[in-house]
Amino acid sequence: MPQESRYAPLFAPLKIGPVTAPNRFYQVPHCTGMGYALPRTLAAMRGIKAEGGWGVVCTEYCSIHPSSDDAPFPFASLWDDGDIANLAAVADAVHAHGALAGVELWHGGSYIGNLATRVPAIGVRSMPAREDPVQSRRMDRGDIRRLRQWHRQAALRARAAGFDIIYVYATHGYLLSEFLSRSANERTDEYGGSLENRSRLYRELLEETRDAVGDRCAVATRFSATGHGDEHLSAAEAEEVLGTLGPLPDLWDIVVEDYAEEMGSSRFVQEAAFESRVRRVRELTGRPVVSVGRFTSPDTMLRQLKGGVLDLIGAARPSIADPFLPTKIREGRIEDIRECIGCNICYAHNFRGVALRCTQNPTMGEEWRSGWHPERVPAGRGSVLIVGAGPAGLEAATTLGKRGLTVTLADAEEAPGGRVTRESRLPGLAEWARVRDYRTGQLSRMDNVSIYLGNRLTVADVREFAADHVLIATGAHWRRSGVGRSHAVPIATLQGAVLTPDDIMAGAQPRGAVTVFDDDHYYMGPVIALQLARAGGRVRYVTSEGTAGAWSAYTAEQYRTQRQLLEAGVEIIVNHVVAAYDQASVTLACVYTGRHQVHDAESLVLVTSREPDDTLYRDLLATDTEAADAEQQPSRYLRIGDCLQPAIIAAAVYSGHKVARELGGLLHALPQARDRVEIGPQRY
Ligand code: ADP
Ligand code: SF4
Repeated sequence: MPQESRYAPLFAPLKIGPVTAPNRFYQVPHCTGMGYALPRTLAAMRGIKAEGGWGVVCTEYCSIHPSSDDAPFPFASLWDDGDIANLAAVADAVHAHGALAGVELWHGGSYIGNLATRVPAIGVRSMPAREDPVQSRRMDRGDIRRLRQWHRQAALRARAAGFDIIYVYATHGYLLSEFLSRSANERTDEYGGSLENRSRLYRELLEETRDAVGDRCAVATRFSATGHGDEHLSAAEAEEVLGTLGPLPDLWDIVVEDYAEEMGSSRFVQEAAFESRVRRVRELTGRPVVSVGRFTSPDTMLRQLKGGVLDLIGAARPSIADPFLPTKIREGRIEDIRECIGCNICYAHNFRGVALRCTQNPTMGEEWRSGWHPERVPAGRGSVLIVGAGPAGLEAATTLGKRGLTVTLADAEEAPGGRVTRESRLPGLAEWARVRDYRTGQLSRMDNVSIYLGNRLTVADVREFAADHVLIATGAHWRRSGVGRSHAVPIATLQGAVLTPDDIMAGAQPRGAVTVFDDDHYYMGPVIALQLARAGGRVRYVTSEGTAGAWSAYTAEQYRTQRQLLEAGVEIIVNHVVAAYDQASVTLACVYTGRHQVHDAESLVLVTSREPDDTLYRDLLATDTEAADAEQQPSRYLRIGDCLQPAIIAAAVYSGHKVARELGGLLHALPQARDRVEIGPQRY
């Protein structure tokens, strides 16, 4: 990096205890849905981050003992020596690119159910697990002694695996948070009562970790600068902890009390949202500080360093969306940064127990099993016509363009982006336009890609074009019939016109009292209801689920979604489906009892399911005798994105990327490598 570059401070090395970070880009611990279950997948993914320039790359939460088992979520583990090799693969992959490897040692305390190990959870008092109908058992002094040994042993294993930074994890409601809590910690011995006593175990773990591994490894700690709420650890008490324990670790990794805010999606939380709350930590501790803020702008990052807020720029999601973000800043390629859109699809898939994926970065999680690199694609030849410039078509055009094929991208609309352009105009979804803007930015610099907007292509147009390959990316539309999860066939009792999200996005203004029926359960129903309420409508939101936007619990958005609707004056009716509608009233049926209730409703918006727009594809196949058995000739006409399978935007981008990457090669024939835990000779 040239010294005169304004971003040079981001590339200055930083000493962290006995180790030195090569720059200020710090991938904080983040969940992956890989953990102990997919060790090769995990190592390859972390290695790519280091290759992309992240100076420090950490693991996810890494359990120190079987009494801390977060199944069914695949966490990392250092329970015994048998775990060392798998985690060493992560450290090695990170070291291969000159970065430091960090490991977040973790004990979940009462928060977790230990569903897999069936070991009773331990806590400062007996409390229910977050999700399961089990409680922890109260720890006695022997348990505290053993916990300290487990932590020490895990730290030694982490060092043996090659890690450079070893965490003591003291927030997010896990075991140390319980000890710190004024209300949860009812102990009357030296571990309870005063703040000094409640933070005793924290202090011991910091000191003992340093004692065990501090000669070679830095000790980091994760802590909430604002405490855990007044009934647990007030902001003033958190400051006191920072002051008294300040010099013990080599690095403070700072979070905020509300995880849904820390992990906040762009619908609710903006970039650098915690700056004011993190600002004092450096001064209080006298140690380097790292924190997150969904940073994607190098200027915002620079402001954190120059303003003395942070020493290291923490990132989870920005590093997922663009593993090469630091390299791009270093090379002055700011316009090439694939900015995170804050949709939390990555987080949601960890929650679903599968490897993480990303809306912006289709290669995330595919580094090992598919051999995909986020910045490199295989060269190719030939010509491709892509019909539809939504996320699938745009991603396919970008990838094929990079591969060197001659690409023509056509769309019926005057502007590119398809659903992303439409949806990003809905409340809170503006950042989603980055899916379009990153790709149109890339395409604008490719001579081998031509874009024709305002062009609705017919079968004859496609034929006349005579491209080697045709990708049909024509999307999907919301069904007007009510067919979806709750209604297998069209709702026969719908009288008169009903509306769909497509109508609302196209500018339709419903009359009178509006009912929005959400059988989709993700964001669309709630944001449509919110938009209509903000426009002054009297809005009732009805869902067949038990909460508003139920699936968005996985994206950490459900609570705020429901609160936002209530605050906007939207009436919420859960566990009901539409049974009939007649332009004046809507009849709802309870999903449990079938009992009916009738409400006034001049307008009804159905958010149920989508119909693929694949007519062009089917007509092409029907009229092309050579391609008639398309299954045998898979590379002539191919559907991608929502036209193939209506799904989330991440799926459309992935679909476009996969076909574009494999076109002209072994399309559909490439078996995905399978990662799994294999039986070895040693029993631990
Ligand atoms: P996806 O999510 O799969 O990318 P979208 O619905 O976002 O799908 O985008 C599909 C795009 O395809 C829309 O912008 C639409 O205008 C365009 N489209 C649909 N049919 C045609 C056609 N026959 N010719 C050109 N563009 C089309
Ligand atoms: Fe960002 Fe969404 Fe990708 Fe997660 S899935 S990194 S929130 S763009």
